[in-house]
Amino acid sequence: MSEKSLGLSKALHDYLLSVSLRESAVLARLRQETANHPLAMMQITPDQGQFLAFLVQLMGATQTLEIGVFTGYSTLCVAQALPATGKVIACDVSEEFTTIARRYWQAAGVADKIDLRLAPALETLDSLLAAGRTDTFDFAFIDADKGNYANYYEKALQLLRPGGLIAVDNVLWSGRVLDRTSQDADTQAIRSFNEKLHNDQRIVLSLVPISDGLTLALKKA
Ligand code: CA
Repeated sequence: MSEKSLGLSKALHDYLLSVSLRESAVLARLRQETANHPLAMMQITPDQGQFLAFLVQLMGATQTLEIGVFTGYSTLCVAQALPATGKVIACDVSEEFTTIARRYWQAAGVADKIDLRLAPALETLDSLLAAGRTDTFDFAFIDADKGNYANYYEKALQLLRPGGLIAVDNVLWSGRVLDRTSQDADTQAIRSFNEKLHNDQRIVLSLVPISDGLTLALKKA
């Protein structure tokens, strides 16, 4: 028995994608357009997007939250996986990035499933709590400013129904979580966030080493 996850060489990762990735044409075009952007590394990888879509379908989710949209790749993956009655409440502060996102959501025919809230996500989450949406969401994806991860998580956990799932991106932070010379605020925030979740008895936890590390937190009944 192997004691750790297999380290993937470029060749093995390419093989993995070649036998599993089913990226739609519109997703591929969005990824290509975003690749030219200076902040392109903020986009999730296609296999990760496919995994989020898989989780949403597995759960039969209809009510979902996204914190951090960027150019809308993950939003599109989730929206395409939802039934016609499903919704994504998508939180971001960037008009520029979400203008790109909206174009692709329209092209994919899922724009009506996506409710974009252009405001600081904590304000949007507070407004949902104030509107009585506690315990009503099935799924939340957190991929935004790392300093607020713990705050987003706490509010998302309240909004989630028991049995609902939060997925959190970048929890391995390119390995910097282990690097003692990395003491910047974002790295420290991710380290303390990971420790917080490890000790949080309100959730069932799994950290999946896909892409830059994806934590799955299932809200206990
Ligand atoms: Ca990310």
